Amino acid sequence: MPRSNRPRNAKKAEPVELNLALIKTGFRKTEIKRGTEYTVQSTTGLNSEDDKSWVCPHCQIQIAKGTAHLVAWDTIRGVETRRHFHSNCWKAFQGVLL
Ligand SMILES: [Zn+2]
Repeated sequence: MPRSNRPRNAKKAEPVELNLALIKTGFRKTEIKRGTEYTVQSTTGLNSEDDKSWVCPHCQIQIAKGTAHLVAWDTIRGVETRRHFHSNCWKAFQGVLL
């Protein structure tokens, strides 16, 4: 197979796949609020496997399915502490995830 002897092509394809993955999963970063480190993951809210809605713990308003928003969790305590926030609400949030 001549294609398998072309590593250049394989390398070219790689960034495209990474970009697609980035679009699907969004960014992930860490933020420190009041001395607690949180992992913050953006999400499109379009994950068809996740057919539930979320109530933002900051404004108590439901985040509609398909709305881009953030998922944040306590990095130390783990992903079971994760909550879904409106993007702006996460910026304003200064409390503790319960
Ligand atoms: Zn909110």
